[in-house]
Amino acid sequence: MTTTIQVPFVDLRAQHDALAPEIDRAVRQVFERGDFILGAAVEKFEGEFAAYHDVRHAIGVGTGLDAIEIALRAHGIGPGDEVITAANTFIATVLAILAVGARPVLVDADAERYTIDPGALSAAITSRTRAIVPVHLFGQPVDVDGVLAIARRYNLLVVEDAAQAHGARYNGQRVGGFGHAAAFSFYPSKNLGAYGDGGMIVTNDSETAQKLRLLRNYGQRAKYAHSIAGTNSRLDTVQAAILRVKLPHLDEWNAARRRHADAYGERLPARVQTPSSAAGVEHVYHLYVIETDHRDTVQQQLRAKEIATGIHYPVPVHLQEACADLGYRAGDFPVTERAAERMLSLPMYPELTPAQIEYVSDAVTEAVKRAG
Ligand SMILES: *Cc1c(COP(=O)(O)O)cnc(C)c1O
Repeated sequence: MTTTIQVPFVDLRAQHDALAPEIDRAVRQVFERGDFILGAAVEKFEGEFAAYHDVRHAIGVGTGLDAIEIALRAHGIGPGDEVITAANTFIATVLAILAVGARPVLVDADAERYTIDPGALSAAITSRTRAIVPVHLFGQPVDVDGVLAIARRYNLLVVEDAAQAHGARYNGQRVGGFGHAAAFSFYPSKNLGAYGDGGMIVTNDSETAQKLRLLRNYGQRAKYAHSIAGTNSRLDTVQAAILRVKLPHLDEWNAARRRHADAYGERLPARVQTPSSAAGVEHVYHLYVIETDHRDTVQQQLRAKEIATGIHYPVPVHLQEACADLGYRAGDFPVTERAAERMLSLPMYPELTPAQIEYVSDAVTEAVKRAG
């Protein structure tokens, strides 16, 4: 009888403990300054986040969902426009497109990377297509060259959804710098997570940056001077102060995730499909997603051994009740639908220990063997 090791799906507490004194100090400073709305830490963090991504501007907003929505709005996307995105994504991507009044047009995934398939993307373009929202899913960059070539050919706006891929690189360049704008989320379990909600938009275009700053803050150019109908979606100063402490650790955390992915890859049996990482790409493993014929039984057996797993995502966006009006049906996106039945996300976070990885890998091997 082997001993049980508890393995949570993510461990936010471990990361907090390592940084607690610095975070306490950063938060206390905000409390003492009292600059809770668009305070000094927000501007500093925006500068640091932009520099990290080698882009000119970063604009802090309330959530990752808002980041996508406001980026689309800043570029005039609205009713009558079609925006193409991945069928295989978290629903926020699609809700952001709906929020500006545009029509989301979904496209199936590439079976290897799980990200948008450029061939299918090309085929989905109509005379109403105005924008593409490629999603760097699970920490893996999309086929950036493929997507950008199509965008250039049809003169389309590109807003990257980088909510799962902070720090990931494509041909040496970090995601977020390829499109006209890119959206990030600081939801606590993301690779760079806040202690609550938060989001960021990055862009190299100064005019767009200015518009984004107006849109997130009531369209306010100066106090009580409102030049456009904006919204209220500002990155909280307390969250920015915390994120400033965390950003310098992002690369080391992503490197740890990659080491863990390699360790899983070496130990998992050939009968499960492990994540593929395309050439020239630096995957940051927001999620470590395997595929198996016996997903549900494997998940149950891992649970019995106190190993927590996830499914991303059990019901694809196009089959969600909330998206029924889009008129999609089961069978429309076979790669995405097959993946939804077979995918299992194993525990993945920087603080995982070799003993935990070994324990999880052995449990998967055993479960697959037993399932036949
Ligand atoms: C998390 C996430 C979002 C939304 O971020 P929130 O901060 O939760 O609003 C958008 N797109 C993808 C792919 C995500 O994973």
